Amino acid sequence: MHQLTLAEIARGLADKKFSSEELTKVLLARIAQLDPQLNSFISLTEDLALSQAKAADVRRANGESGALLGAPIAHKDLFCTQGIRTSCGSKMLDNFKAPYDATVVAKLAAAGAVTLGKTNMDEFAMGSANESSYYGAVKNPWNLEHVPGGSSGGSAAAVAARLLPAATATDTGGSIRQPAAFTNLTGLKPTYGRVSRWGMIAYASSLDQGGPLARTAEDCAILLQGMAGFDPKDSTSIDEPVPDYSAGLNGSLQGLRIGLPKEYFGAGLDPRIAELVHNSVKELEKLGAVVKGISLPNMQHAIPAYYVIAPAEASSNLSRFDGVRFGYRCENPKDLTDLYKRSRGEGFGPEVQRRIMVGAYALSAGYYDAYYLKAQKIRRLVKNDFMAAFNEVDIILGPTTPNPAWKLGAKNNDPVAEYLEDVYTITANLAGLPGLSMPAGFVDGLPVGVQLLAPYFQEGRLLNVAHQYQLNTDWHTRTPTGF
Ligand code: GLN
Repeated sequence: MHQLTLAEIARGLADKKFSSEELTKVLLARIAQLDPQLNSFISLTEDLALSQAKAADVRRANGESGALLGAPIAHKDLFCTQGIRTSCGSKMLDNFKAPYDATVVAKLAAAGAVTLGKTNMDEFAMGSANESSYYGAVKNPWNLEHVPGGSSGGSAAAVAARLLPAATATDTGGSIRQPAAFTNLTGLKPTYGRVSRWGMIAYASSLDQGGPLARTAEDCAILLQGMAGFDPKDSTSIDEPVPDYSAGLNGSLQGLRIGLPKEYFGAGLDPRIAELVHNSVKELEKLGAVVKGISLPNMQHAIPAYYVIAPAEASSNLSRFDGVRFGYRCENPKDLTDLYKRSRGEGFGPEVQRRIMVGAYALSAGYYDAYYLKAQKIRRLVKNDFMAAFNEVDIILGPTTPNPAWKLGAKNNDPVAEYLEDVYTITANLAGLPGLSMPAGFVDGLPVGVQLLAPYFQEGRLLNVAHQYQLNTDWHTRTPTGF
């Protein structure tokens, strides 16, 4: 039963082949048995899951239907869940029980989704390897010596290992797409403003966006449907109608114009990944797509700009964790300054402290123009590049990551080396565009992802292209050995 996708689960529940309660028990047992190898969960919510499953079964018995009614999922542990620990992967929030549900959590619960638990993540979503979590590193089910990607590594590892069919995640610079690529999943970062950020603990507010991680585009469509929509509680939420994503999956790709940016295939890209990306292009051409070379000339400036803007916003967002109002507080503070200093020094891990320092520096008088303002100008240039490209093509295609998942610990002493791995994903966040990563093959037994980018609010186009690709390829169906 654990092999079923969300779409298959919805059919099985509708056909009364099994109940949500039965399925939930099977998956909870599987998590108890297998997750010790992966460390993909920070908290399990067995009691909540069983009561939600029973309630969903009653709703179905009363004639209700819906693709998420009775579907088991988990939430990345930065979505606030009322009365349940919401740690953000940090010692700072180890004791924090959220007083309310995030909009995403509330919407999915209302649609009848069953919450199995909260998944592991890089501390405050800062990282690309899921090694900065206070709760320990997450392992990649494809090779337990390798990282699963980050920051949504727990959601990715759990779904890839078939502990559950799908999970929520967030993407500030690639944290949905990159772990999807590293674990053979499909992951979608929606347009900025498509999914409410209310109750999502902020890392870099102008870049953060929640989205689905699942095995197939079809399942991402189902989960995104439950997450997306205008939310008056989030001032950056956009009041734009939400299309029926599942209904949009069967569009023809005849004449679809795919742009291949020449900057995506230069130095730094593993040539074996380049080959798999080109194979995926050939598949899409067979389905009627036409390929065009394009250029995104400012891409080379995106990493330095992102690693100024994201830490700047983080340094501001994380100032609320002061040891006074909630979260970790140091023992026996001498005075208020000591309370602030030690609570933050003891509560935040090294990567979070590094980002706060970088961000505070970039924002300080005398440096603001040179770093923060400059980075914002680059951000606009990156966006302009995309706008020009989308005058010529319908989607942009390239690798999700320059390399496959690296070994645990391999980049621990070199944060910049880890930052550079985000080269293909961060531009979509800087521009606010939607992006999807889909499985496209393997290198040394490790999964490789292809990234698709589309114009604003064209999540449906991305899902349609990925679904058509998945109807004609079987990479996404491969299961890691031992799971
Ligand atoms: N790796 C990037 C960072 O550390 C992106 C993380 C994310 O998307 N949350 O900032």
